[in-house]
Amino acid sequence: MTNLARILALLVLLSGACARMAEGIETVVATVDGETETLVGRALKRDSAGGMFLETIAGGRYVLPADQVQSRTSNSETFAPLTPEAMGEALLAEAPEGFRIHTTEHYVVCYDTSREYAEWTSSLLEGLYRAFTNYWSKAKLELSEPEFPLAVVIFRDVNDYAAAARSELGAGAANVVGFYSLKSNRVIMYDITGSDALRGARSDRRDIGRMLAQPAAAPLVATIVHEATHQVSFNCGLLKRYSNLPLWFAEGLAIYFEAPDPNGARGWRGIGKINHLRMATFRENLPQWNTARLASLLADDRRLRDPRSAIDAYADAWALTYYLIRYHRQEYTAYVKELASLEPLAEFTPDERIAMFQKHFGELEPLARDLVRTMSRLR
Ligand SMILES: [Zn+2]
Repeated sequence: MTNLARILALLVLLSGACARMAEGIETVVATVDGETETLVGRALKRDSAGGMFLETIAGGRYVLPADQVQSRTSNSETFAPLTPEAMGEALLAEAPEGFRIHTTEHYVVCYDTSREYAEWTSSLLEGLYRAFTNYWSKAKLELSEPEFPLAVVIFRDVNDYAAAARSELGAGAANVVGFYSLKSNRVIMYDITGSDALRGARSDRRDIGRMLAQPAAAPLVATIVHEATHQVSFNCGLLKRYSNLPLWFAEGLAIYFEAPDPNGARGWRGIGKINHLRMATFRENLPQWNTARLASLLADDRRLRDPRSAIDAYADAWALTYYLIRYHRQEYTAYVKELASLEPLAEFTPDERIAMFQKHFGELEPLARDLVRTMSRLR
């Protein structure tokens, strides 16, 4: 997730005088990231100045202040999400020459890599989808089928990927192998078998499997699973996009699910394994762990957003999530249910965020103490 601070600033503009529109399809010509785009969808909220929070038939969500809306027309048709076929056509229409579509049960993958790589990726993602929905159903939290086909774009060439990612990630786009876009609802990535860490033959499925079983592939596969976890969370009714969730929670959940496997055939350990990369960072910081450190994670998103503290804060978010799921599972599930019920554009003060947490987990001081004791014993 990126640019959230900027988006949240825009949300403040929209949060006054909003009313949910029940029906009708809007065709909106708007300025998005400096470009003119035509968006077709429904207004989830609007303000008196002509701004709106629009959900498109492709599952995109756009915060459009009045000065970004160039024109709009509406009709009385009922909103219907794109079918997988139509989603494939929409993705191809936006992609450069040479892209193709591979469709699976839940995913529509648009790619210019080899067919085998697109298949490998979609079977990894379907595996995550199954594991994710099973996990929550065992936790007695009912999820829903995604309303929109889950769209994924895979670039063969890292430079093409970076160019496509630049408007959302900025100049550092090539530093991450993929990301989930809250705005477009897509996961966008490049073919990691072409990355510098893994160069080699990649012509058939066996080659791909062999390459991705290398230890060097594990963190790259973990990133794909991480970003796909964000996408599934926001599409199966677990969380709502733009609902101003605590960042430690959304990131901790994605890191909990990503756990890389340096020795496994798939590069992914599956749900709930110890994430050794994050654990190592957390261990280094254990001497500084206390109630204030816990409170800073809960109160706001600053430590996670600041590049100087992000690696440590992400490890903290993983450790807190792991600890709560393993040792306070019922309370964690109840907390997730409360977060899932938050409406888009809601605002919370640091005190309100801490109070929402304490309602489920009690006082911070004993919890922080037990977390440190328990996590320092884990092997
Ligand atoms: Zn993330």
